[in-house]
Amino acid sequence: MTRIYSPFVVAKFGGTSVANFDAMSRSASIVLADPQVRVVVLSASSGVTNLLVSLSEGLSAQDRSDKIETLRALTHAILSSLKQPDAVRPSIDTLLDSITRLADQAAQASSPALSDELVSHGELLSTLLFTAILSERGAKANWLDAREIIRTDSHFGCAEPDITAIAQQVQTRLLPHVEDSIVVTQGFIGSDADGRTTTLGRGGSDYTASLLGEALTASRVDIWTDVAGIYTTDPRIVPQAQRIDTLSFSEASDMAAYGAKVLHPATLMPAMRKNIPVFVGSSKNPEAGGTRVCRETENPTSYRALAVRRKQTLVKCRRPDAQSSVEFNARIFALLAELRLQAELVSTSENGIAWILDATHATSGDDGDLLTSLQEKLAAHCVLEVESGLALMTLVGHRLSQSERLCRDVFSQLDGCAVRMVCHGAGEHNLSVLLPGESADSAVKMLHKRLFEQTEAQGYAA
Ligand code: ADP
Ligand code: ASP
Ligand code: MG
Repeated sequence: MTRIYSPFVVAKFGGTSVANFDAMSRSASIVLADPQVRVVVLSASSGVTNLLVSLSEGLSAQDRSDKIETLRALTHAILSSLKQPDAVRPSIDTLLDSITRLADQAAQASSPALSDELVSHGELLSTLLFTAILSERGAKANWLDAREIIRTDSHFGCAEPDITAIAQQVQTRLLPHVEDSIVVTQGFIGSDADGRTTTLGRGGSDYTASLLGEALTASRVDIWTDVAGIYTTDPRIVPQAQRIDTLSFSEASDMAAYGAKVLHPATLMPAMRKNIPVFVGSSKNPEAGGTRVCRETENPTSYRALAVRRKQTLVKCRRPDAQSSVEFNARIFALLAELRLQAELVSTSENGIAWILDATHATSGDDGDLLTSLQEKLAAHCVLEVESGLALMTLVGHRLSQSERLCRDVFSQLDGCAVRMVCHGAGEHNLSVLLPGESADSAVKMLHKRLFEQTEAQGYAA
């Protein structure tokens, strides 16, 4: 079937790209330079979501007022750089008042629904300011509340989008505006069937951009961030990391799922479904180019990238003697499904099952709540052992299962490191190793050096 692409491009700008007036102005220039960019998806300004998350956890009156003053100063600094600040000031002040009221409520009794409502204000603020900047630069720009379009379930903090409902809303509420204007909307936030605000999990603005790209059958989704593309590993850990110019959807998707923060883990799924290329580049340095993620890549070398996911918890579930392992495994997986918990890196033995728990993307932040519900649910069925503070390092490659040198290349670099778990096989393109959190950076550096900085190891099967 030949798919007809719309001429539109969806461009998403992350927190640092909308951190202040100068950053917003640079991002506005990127939008205005490409007439195909008709949908702009924004994150909250850098640091704002963290600040709102802390308010939603219930702070003392003094701490609340300090945080809100910080936010007011940041927002008003952008406002005061506008030519006509008074046109936007009332809406900004209404949002700041609403934040104060919700933070007071959270101090009385916090809840995931209240937290999502409060946290959504970061994106509401940044999009109002950005729309004003575009308008002042002569563009016809429309602000749109993403909650009218991004319909989700009611799983606050990490909601699941409803693709069919989103497609319908895009047709009626977004498409009519993109023909003749630039629509600016919020990433990360949505609403459930009852109209309550939800969020797609931390870093979720990337996901919003590709969901909108899918619903519009956009010709491209651009992710503008603070790095000029996707690198062989996080350049903050390894400054020698190299940009990868082209990646396949599945490679980039693996990298995101295994911790490459540059993309939210679910971002590539909508793009893959409609075969929409995704570009990743730096809003500070658009001339530097970036990474293109698309269906096919030409003869990729075998080792592609290293990703690391921190704050992992290893859960071991010991089987009672009286129960067969077949029954025990079935029971445990049924209980995990009830908790909506995805067990990753599962390993079984005659003693029981072990897996890792990942809570890095829940808006509420840590895995404490997850572990409590897990313990309550499983206590009657087994003895649980829990080890926190681990890190998962994953090598993403191409047909790693056919490599005869994989073990030598990887494990020779992990000498002296207390490896807690190893997983390879369910997917032939990656190999994951669970390590103590404090070993992760040095392991990534060593392995990166071996696999990506020494030509001998690169492209062994190419
Ligand atoms: P944004 O706010 O624009 O969404 P993020 O902080 O979420 O930006 O993602 C960008 C960051 O992702 C980079 O600053 C970088 O440290 C990190 N990162 C992790 N892995 C990679 C990788 N393989 N390539 C590029 N950046 C990566
Ligand atoms: N502002 C949200 C966050 O900090 C979403 C995003 O940046 O993509 O997680
Ligand atoms: Mg991000």
